Amino acid sequence: MRLSRYFLPVLKETPSDAQIVSHRLMLRAGMIRQQAAGIYSWLPLGYRVLRNIERIVHEEQQRAGHIPVLMPTVQPADLWQESGRYNAYGPEMLRIRDRHDRDMLYGPTNEEMITDIFRTHVSSYRDLPLTLYHIQWKFRDEVRPRFGVMRGREFLMKDGYTFDVSKEAALHAYNRHLVSYLRTYERMGLQAIPMRADSGPIGGDNTHEFLVLADTGESEVFYDSEITDLRFGDRDIDYDDPAQCRAVLEEFTSRYARTDETHDPEAFARIPTERQRTARGIEVGQIFYFGTKYSEPMGAMVQTADGIQVPVHMGSHGIGVSRLAGALIEANHDDRGIVWPEEVAPFPCGIVNLRQGDGNCDSVCEAIHGQLSARGLEPLYDDTDERAGAKFASMDLIGLPWRITVGPRGLKSGTVEVTSRRTGDSEEMSPEAAVARIADIYGRG
Ligand code: ATP
Ligand code: MG
Repeated sequence: MRLSRYFLPVLKETPSDAQIVSHRLMLRAGMIRQQAAGIYSWLPLGYRVLRNIERIVHEEQQRAGHIPVLMPTVQPADLWQESGRYNAYGPEMLRIRDRHDRDMLYGPTNEEMITDIFRTHVSSYRDLPLTLYHIQWKFRDEVRPRFGVMRGREFLMKDGYTFDVSKEAALHAYNRHLVSYLRTYERMGLQAIPMRADSGPIGGDNTHEFLVLADTGESEVFYDSEITDLRFGDRDIDYDDPAQCRAVLEEFTSRYARTDETHDPEAFARIPTERQRTARGIEVGQIFYFGTKYSEPMGAMVQTADGIQVPVHMGSHGIGVSRLAGALIEANHDDRGIVWPEEVAPFPCGIVNLRQGDGNCDSVCEAIHGQLSARGLEPLYDDTDERAGAKFASMDLIGLPWRITVGPRGLKSGTVEVTSRRTGDSEEMSPEAAVARIADIYGRG
């Protein structure tokens, strides 16, 4: 992509209304534009990041055996009247009336709709287990939308729903989700810690929230510092094996880690003092087994192997896809801008031409651009007439993991410079070696 033909409206000034660093950087880097409180357009750079996050979520969901669907954003109110949540949901629900005076709403979540789909088409244990998920926009009329996409009113969520014939089977689905979430966040270069959460009026302790530690997080969290040493890594887990999934869950949830809602000061005090940590965290996901809360009132029944009709056991499992764009920046930035992890970066690398219009510089940049693109690694090539300092500042701000700098002085000895955004380390090498280096980093060598 040539910057001269791209749409990257970076801001020189720091927006005064943005309180946290990720919001400021998303605005300055031209990733988003606020259209109303808590409602954003995703500009090209932001949209590329959002798509990368979505892609990873899709891949990891499907690796775990979950099936993608797409439900609408606008829902009829009568489904919510059946479950009893139409009145219970309160002012967070955006209610709409259509031209025929029918009550509709912009979905804040999809338990009712998925239960309706299920009861229409499934009636036997033979069709279970089943997990359906989608990635779709939600609307919640939050009292205080703030922090940019972190607490929006319209936001993108992955929500998945599990259907099982028994509680035992449903708990395997729960554990499987926990494992797949660990893997999803780690792939994005994020550490998200599962913490015991509050199940609210439904009760039970089968719910965990995943939190990214950050000073700007909205939740207060308490944990045993040993938990931050755990890594899922590249383990090969059989998602269909309940024992394997349970072992991972036990490993990652046996140490104390709770949000303020479930915090137990006495249990916390029993951790050795030097390991007690109090911090703030950003909730990037939640898993929840709630049994028959929706299947019972909505009549989603299945026949068991013994021929008995039982309400299906359900769980719902969410990932904050658009919030993750902000959370990733909170966890990956420095005073010059964003530092994208490679898996989610909007472009794998940038090319800076230090003397646009110089025949030699231009043709080397074009060659690098073409060769990387041919390998499926389309770089962002700054082919504008800006000064070198301004080009470097923009590249640092938008945070591409690697930069290839091409200038007349280096080319005299046949070299260009490859620089890591994260460490700032630079290395000189031939243009061919630079292409090979980037391709190698991204596994396209
Ligand atoms: P919160 O406690 O932050 O309001 P929640 O517990 O109500 O979130 P869930 O229903 O669990 O949210 O939704 C699943 C995920 O969607 C959350 O873990 C979070 O990452 C994301 N999410 C929820 N509300 C918002 C929002 N207003 N803006 C952006 N992302 C959100
Ligand atoms: Mg939640």
